[in-house]
Order: sequence, then C-alpha cells, then structure tokens
Amino acid sequence: MSKCDVVVIGAGAAGLSAGALLAAEGKSVQVLERSPHLGGRALAVEDEGFAVNLGGHLIEDAGSGITKVFEHVGKELIHGSVSKEMPVWDNEKRKWGSIRDRMPNKTEVKKVIKALTETSWDELEEWDDRPLRQWLLQHTSDQGVIDLYEFISVLECLTDEWWDHSASDNLWVRKMHYEEARMAAYSCWPGQGWAQLWQDLADAITERGGSVRLNTSAGRVLIEDGKILGVTIPHEASVPNAYDDGEVIETDCVISTLPVWDVFKVVPESALPDWYSQQIRYLSQDRWRVSWLNLYIATEEPVTMWDPKELATWTATPHSETPGYMYDQAAMDPDSFPDGVHLHCMGGVIPGALARDTDYVRDMFDRFEAGIYEMYPGLKNSVWKRRGLVFDPAFGVIQKPMLVGSFRPDWRAPTVDGLYFASETFKSRGIGTDRSARAALSCVEHYLGRRIATFGDGWRY
Ligand SMILES: Cc1cc2nc3c(=O)[nH]c(=O)nc-3n(C[C@H](O)[C@H](O)[C@H](O)COP(=O)(O)OP(=O)(O)OC[C@H]3O[C@@H](n4cnc5c(N)ncnc54)[C@H](O)[C@@H]3O)c2cc1C
Repeated sequence: MSKCDVVVIGAGAAGLSAGALLAAEGKSVQVLERSPHLGGRALAVEDEGFAVNLGGHLIEDAGSGITKVFEHVGKELIHGSVSKEMPVWDNEKRKWGSIRDRMPNKTEVKKVIKALTETSWDELEEWDDRPLRQWLLQHTSDQGVIDLYEFISVLECLTDEWWDHSASDNLWVRKMHYEEARMAAYSCWPGQGWAQLWQDLADAITERGGSVRLNTSAGRVLIEDGKILGVTIPHEASVPNAYDDGEVIETDCVISTLPVWDVFKVVPESALPDWYSQQIRYLSQDRWRVSWLNLYIATEEPVTMWDPKELATWTATPHSETPGYMYDQAAMDPDSFPDGVHLHCMGGVIPGALARDTDYVRDMFDRFEAGIYEMYPGLKNSVWKRRGLVFDPAFGVIQKPMLVGSFRPDWRAPTVDGLYFASETFKSRGIGTDRSARAALSCVEHYLGRRIATFGDGWRY
C-alpha cells in the first residue's frame, strides 16, 4: 500500500494543473489516468501522420489562468497564433463576410463594453438564470453589437440553440478578456503543440517526485464517516467476474477531475447528500451535453480566402441547423500533419439529447458535410478526412441559463472532508481547458488553506 498527500483522478487539464500545483507546493501527489494518453478531453493523437485533437483547439486565456499555472510550476505556456478577426457565414445570403461588416456603429460597441467593465463580478452572478440577449438589450438595440456577442458565444460555448446562452457565463469571460487583453475574445494555439503542453505539466509533477500513472483507473474513493481513507486501483481482471479492490493508495485528500457524467463511477453516491447528488445527476443528462459533429478535412490547397489564422463561424450551414466553426490548422501548427497539405478542422453542434440516435447522427453528418462543401468548395478536393462524434466524452455541460454558476454543484463535496471536484462541469465559469485549470487552482488553494501568491486576486471560483 502506498501513501501520499493527495490523489488526483484524471490527467486532463484539471488533473495535471492540480498535480503540478500541489507538487510545486511541496505536497506528495499521485495522478491516476485511465487512458494511455495525457490531456483527457483535450488530448492530441497521431492518426495516419495527422495530429488530431480530440478536444482542445484554442486556449482562451489571456494570461491569468492556465498560463500562470505553467509559470508557477516553472514551465511556459507559449502563446502561439491568435485569432483577431471573425469571418462569418451568412446563411441567408449564402456568402462569407466579416463580423465587422455587421457592426457599423462603433459608439454602440463602446457603450456596451463600458457597461460591461462597470458591471461588478458580483452583479454578473445575478445573471445565471437569464439569457445573454436580455442583458445586452438593456444597453443597446443595435443588432450588429448583439450579433458580435452572440457569434463569440457560438465560438466559445456552443449550444445547439445558439441564441440561448446564459448571460453570466458569457459576460464573465468577456469582461475578463476586455480587462486583460483589451479584446472581446482572446484565444491562442499553444506554441508547443497540445501533446507537448500536457507533457510539460506532467514533467512538472514528476520532476518534483510526484507520479503520473497512465493506464491506471481509479476504482473507488474509500470513504468512512465523512473521511477519505484512500483510492483503490483494481487489478486487471484475470477472470470476468473478478471482484476485489486491488491496490489501495492511502490518502486523506482526493481531487476528482471527472466530469459530472462520470463522477459516480468512482465516488460513492451514498457518501454525498441526496440534494447534492441529484444536482450532479440533473446536469449529467444527455440533453445538457454539448455534442457535436467533428470533421477534419485535409486538402493540398488552402480553402479560405482570409488570413488562415482566423477562426470562422456560423449559426447554420446551408443544409443543417448546426452552429459551429472552422480553422486551418496549417496556420496554427505546421508540424502537425504531412508536408504539402492543409488540415482544416471544423465542427457543428447537435442536440445532446439526440446524439445516441445513430440514424440521426449519420443524417446530420451528411447534411453538415454537404453544407460545408457549399461554404468551402475547395474542401471537395480532399486528400484525407475524418469524422468524429463528440458525445462521450462531450465538450462540456451546456451553458444555457439555469445550468451555470449557482445552479451547479459546488466543487467542495459537502459531508466529506478532503474530497474536491475540479472540473468545469461543476460550479465554475465558462468551458474549456483554461476553466478546468482554474477549477483545479480553487481546489488546491482550498486544500492548502491559503491563496498562492502568483495568482494574485485573479479569478478562481
Ligand atoms: C471536441 C471538443 C472541442 C473542444 N474545444 C476546446 C477548445 O478549443 N478550447 C478549450 O479550451 N477547450 C475545448 N474543449 C473542452 C476541453 O477539452 C475540456 O474543457 C477540458 O479538456 C476538460 O479538462 P478536464 O481535465 O476538466 O477533464 P477531462 O479532460 O475530461 O479529464 C478527465 C480525465 O479523467 C480520466 N478518467 C476518467 N475516469 C477515470 C478513472 N476511473 N481513473 C482515472 N482516470 C479517469 C479521463 O480519461 C480524462 O483524462 C473541447 C472539448 C471537446 C470534446
């Protein structure tokens, strides 16, 4: 039986951030990861010479979140290509334009930015139960400004009903980006590439004596009388009906990074109060999973008519009501595929509730792809193609009103000392790798009983 201060379950953005921060703070830590890869939902894997990202595409941190985690643990998150403009597909007119064409009135834009920067973080908390558009209409009736905010929401958060975004989550991120980067939305490609990004954090753990164990599933968190005793790692079953705890790591603190839909596979529901576990179950429903159709298409020629670093977006394609986006990975990371080709990465959201219906999914893929070929005729000359259904795992929990912020289960388990849920699917703000890292920071600081000075008064939860 081994012993450590903290067991972290999962080696995605949250688990590696938590592990690296704890190791940097002198704690003994073991990170357990079920899969053979680092990165979780944001892992990058090689597929016939192409580096394909399951999840992570762009990091939405101007500097105060995951970038600072790297800094604190002695590593660097290199900010690569940044997207600044926003090509937008107008599905009614069937043509491309820029978000700027829709926004003639700069005074209105400035008015809304001023209102947002003057709105306190506490006031934003009160908008968990209302849509973004409702907040905007208080300050402007200019459709161009409303479009700007709603298209950014499509890029960042993705709901199948693209107009139906929570005000609080979206404005929270907008305010942070305005204040830190003077931009409505900041996103960058990690300069070291996604696979190396996660390796750098794992190294920060192992260089300080911690461990990151791949191919190692946590079995159960052992809890007795509200106290954690340890975590089991079941033996690989030699017979189908094997039933034993296998190895036990002794610890009194566990940081689980499993998303809401997986957490009860490891944490016994009976150790938590019913009102709390019901909140987790409510959010875990298929209908609230952000699901989408992922499409990678490689061509010999570029297919976009604008700067390839720019992320293009739409609320519908010619044959499917699937909001989504596309970028040319060649401009972000030229080493991530064979010479002489461009790798285009795109996706469109579908309702999570329907993602288990294989006929529906196949039909939507065909319609989505047909629409994409009208939007980018050059993609028809593909030399390589991959489809992927994003559902299990999903992108995240949808950010509609009443499904965010105070409507989510807290990241501190009630009734169990030392049990934390570091995940952007629990109570946090926004979605994505940066938010997972911030969720990890909140748990680590609570466990330490103090704030880590590097992060100042910046945002955690
Ligand atoms: C298609 C797609 C596109 C996305 N695009 C972006 C983007 O552009 N930018 C962005 O920032 N974010 C993006 N995201 C979201 C981002 O990937 C996630 O928010 C982030 O990776 C979540 O990290 P996490 O560590 O919280 O959780 P996860 O990555 O889900 O980590 C949990 C880990 O736990 C492991 N695990 C599960 N069960 C066990 C067990 N029993 N024992 C041990 N380990 C276990 C899993 O294998 C996994 O590695 C995207 C996601 C998807 C799916």
